[in-house]
Amino acid sequence: MTAPHPAIAPRPGILDIAPYVGGESGAPGANRAIKLSANENPRGPSPAAVEAYRACAAGLALYPDGGAESLRAAIGAAEGLDPARIVCGAGSDEIISLLCQAYAGPGDEVLHSRHGFLMYAISAKAAGATPVAAPETELTADVDALLAACTPRTRLVFLANPNNPTGTLVSQAEVARLAEGLPPQALLVLDAAYAEYVAAPGYDAGAALADARDNVVMTRTFSKIHGLAALRLGWAYGPTHVIDVLNRVRGPFNVSVPAIAAGAAAIADREHVAAEAARNAAWRDWLAGRLAAAGVPCTRAHGNFLLARFGETGPASAPEADGWLKTRGLIVRRMEGYGLAGWLRISIGEEAACRMVADAVDAFRAARA
Ligand code: PMP
Repeated sequence: MTAPHPAIAPRPGILDIAPYVGGESGAPGANRAIKLSANENPRGPSPAAVEAYRACAAGLALYPDGGAESLRAAIGAAEGLDPARIVCGAGSDEIISLLCQAYAGPGDEVLHSRHGFLMYAISAKAAGATPVAAPETELTADVDALLAACTPRTRLVFLANPNNPTGTLVSQAEVARLAEGLPPQALLVLDAAYAEYVAAPGYDAGAALADARDNVVMTRTFSKIHGLAALRLGWAYGPTHVIDVLNRVRGPFNVSVPAIAAGAAAIADREHVAAEAARNAAWRDWLAGRLAAAGVPCTRAHGNFLLARFGETGPASAPEADGWLKTRGLIVRRMEGYGLAGWLRISIGEEAACRMVADAVDAFRAARA
């Protein structure tokens, strides 16, 4: 880390932020690395989205439509939502950051569960607020613990459902109980980055609660099932008072022309979304079965990744397994940053990648037996 400047200092708390470290993308020595460290879609976007992106090349001199009207209309049509209550951002990361900036500052608390997505604490600190972590039960957000952690200073409560990196899901009834039980000044942010992968009966990504209540906002992303992580595109749907606030604090052109065009085409391609959800579920469950048979249990996964426990044979075995996979060109995610040192997070790749992971873990376990 660079030493702080003697006179020019950022606001208090900024230098306490440990910068977010993304998934690695290369493996030194391996001929061809397969990236399973950032929960991307291995098949990429809908061909229609790629086509729409290419068509933008002729118009790069002009600013985008600041209201992203065509994209909001496409999202509204695909998801059955009122476009006027949608705001788009440069990834859902930007929406998370804008929510913290708008609703939380010095003296305020931003609540999340113990193994919640790291950007909640980072964005809270960047806004000068204090992140607060509530305990989980069996690596799943615990509504009673979240409610017990609320104080008069709680301004935002982030719940990723399903959560990254644990992959676990909180039931609809429990999410509703959380929204109902929050103190009046707290806004619940339901981060549904992995919503399209969920098959659990009764699951609602957050739109129904955001319709029914004035203290719930849902965030979504184009980086996962839509395969557009490179373009940085996400959105929020919520009550008009929250959408109005987000529209005041966002940059006037925070979503680029190619992102608007490709996003609108991607979300309209429901066949691609359905095919990717089915492919992911099949290989996720297959891989979880193979890992379990190898003595590596996973949490109950609802997204496009597995959280796999290697730690039972000692704290060194997750790093060792990571190194073993890396020498075979398989890049997965270490979990120390999430307080899950014995675990590795493995994104669901294509069939060949899943088979390579399963075979490599078998070989690792056999070598350690
Ligand atoms: N929320 C969750 C739970 C995530 O896992 C991610 C991506 N890792 C994001 C938000 C941010 O996604 P993006 O900024 O690419 O939309």
